[in-house]
Amino acid sequence: MNPKFQSLRGTNDILPDESRIWSYLEDKISDIFRRFGYQEIRTPIFERTELFVRSIGQATDIVNKEMYTFTDRKERSLTLRPEGTAPVVRAYLQNQLYTKDEVWKLYYKGPFFRYERPQAGRERQFHQFGAEVLGVMNPAVDAEIIYLGYLILKSIGLDNCELLLGSVGCPVCRPGYEKVIVAEMKEHYSELCDDCKRRYKDNPLRMLDCKNDTCKKYLKKVPAFTENLCEYCKNYLAKIEELLKLLEVPFEITPNLVRGLDYYTHTTFEFIYPHLGAQATLIGGGRYNHLIEELGGEDVPACGFAGGMERIIAALKNEKKQLPISDELDVFVVHIGTECFKSAFQLLQKIRSGGMSADMDYRESSLKSQFRRADRFKTRYVIIIGEDELKNRTAKLKNMKTGDEESIKSDNIVSELKKRLIK
Ligand SMILES: [Zn+2]
Ligand SMILES: [Zn+2]
Repeated sequence: MNPKFQSLRGTNDILPDESRIWSYLEDKISDIFRRFGYQEIRTPIFERTELFVRSIGQATDIVNKEMYTFTDRKERSLTLRPEGTAPVVRAYLQNQLYTKDEVWKLYYKGPFFRYERPQAGRERQFHQFGAEVLGVMNPAVDAEIIYLGYLILKSIGLDNCELLLGSVGCPVCRPGYEKVIVAEMKEHYSELCDDCKRRYKDNPLRMLDCKNDTCKKYLKKVPAFTENLCEYCKNYLAKIEELLKLLEVPFEITPNLVRGLDYYTHTTFEFIYPHLGAQATLIGGGRYNHLIEELGGEDVPACGFAGGMERIIAALKNEKKQLPISDELDVFVVHIGTECFKSAFQLLQKIRSGGMSADMDYRESSLKSQFRRADRFKTRYVIIIGEDELKNRTAKLKNMKTGDEESIKSDNIVSELKKRLIK
């Protein structure tokens, strides 16, 4: 065959062998969210570009070089969502959720888009799940959000992740700390990368996130933010630490944990799976107390995280974890000769209505080929209907694991299968 089309760079087809893993993880994650009292929210795939520029920040890599932005037929600038928090906040404000309840605990999952150079763990269409708590300023919320991420990773067998915890301060202590960065970097300005030269003026804190080796060398000398926090921020972080210890969640205080978005205040955290190299962050998040105000709302505190599906799956593959995913088919109905086709077809639907998974071969295949197909779907039981069985109103039932065969009355097939398959 000679296919005329290929999927675009940085996008992937998730084929059945893989999608089974995806469904398993998505179900698991949604289940944990529900257990923590989070409700699902679904926002559109595209939004006005301005929403992301205002929330993520002008000086960030995402806004500067990674957004999928286009103009529609009315010349409006639209962007495929690069992250989930800004749309959730937009929806919260637009739908006036705050009038219905003071506190909202929301979760989401779905595709996101960034125009990046595709590499392992970075796709142009990638998939995230995330949680947001709007309306509470209390270290217990931050601790719960972190614990939620911890439990998700643990429940799928990724219990070797490192939790990095930091703080990016508040409007009281951040300006002072930015002066500390600028003072420290002043004499190295000419050697900084172009991005950092821009950040030096626009947003010095962002420099701490630079991956450039020269910048990194000088930035190492910048005193830790965690040591330059105001009293309030210091105490706030200490209380989160206390609660995490209570929950027996191991963590490591990271002096300068600046994440790729500007809206964070106070808490920042990341769950790292070290074997994935540069793309090691599986889950990342923090507090964003001023985003809601920035987008036109009241002063509503908030906290959340997002996790990357592709990276989590890569980590699972690296761990060679066997997930408890069943891809077995309960029953395969085999017929011998065209005479029996109709009975087999009818029986097949009865088995399915009875709550079991079942299939048959619709081609005019040989017995051998039908059994091959049954094997391919890891079938547990095969029902065989031949002319003799048709005449006697029976069917042959074969247990594919043991090879045992028995004869069963036609009328009892579904109930007999249920006895064996439905616990
Ligand atoms: Zn502060
Ligand atoms: Zn730099």
